Amino acid sequence: MKTYPFKANIILQKGDITDVSADAIVNAANSYLSHGGGVAYAIVRKGGYQIQKESDEYIRLHGPVKTGEVAVTTAGKLKAKYIIHAVGPIFGIEGEEKLELAIRKSLEKAEELKLSSIAFPAISTGIYGYPYEICARIMSDVFLNFSPNYLKEIYVVLYDEKAYRIFEEEF
Ligand code: ADP
Repeated sequence: MKTYPFKANIILQKGDITDVSADAIVNAANSYLSHGGGVAYAIVRKGGYQIQKESDEYIRLHGPVKTGEVAVTTAGKLKAKYIIHAVGPIFGIEGEEKLELAIRKSLEKAEELKLSSIAFPAISTGIYGYPYEICARIMSDVFLNFSPNYLKEIYVVLYDEKAYRIFEEEF
């Protein structure tokens, strides 16, 4: 684990994001908030069906979440207060600017909720196919250009060794 002093502390961590103690956990969600695979499934499996239920209710009321946008639910049985469901782009179909937007909107939502910590997975690098290098570059750019009022800790949680190495190099 390495910490990088910044406007907020950025902490790169290897492992499972559902084990991280942060006020908000960001989920790499799809537009329908249908949490069937990847990190989304891990969050619902551990946090409980309540998260999927609240997600379904959100979709019923507001319709699908656009790429680059976020929706919030509680975190069920997880230690976090909220799950910020961020919809990243699909590699080759939707552009990097949508990934930048999804990351920035997640930070803005955490600020709006006056949270002091947030944990990000490598959004769009699983089922959605983005290379880790691109996600790492965009994340570090967005964090660099963000001035938080409330956030003190931003965790980036990488599920495998390769992802961790690439993010470590970028950050
Ligand atoms: P997307 O559809 O946005 O690509 P995925 O959930 O498929 O979302 O993958 C996003 C990233 O999350 C991938 O790098 C994947 O390895 C990682 N991941 C999967 N499960 C977990 C977990 N439990 N904790 C942290 N990261 C995870």
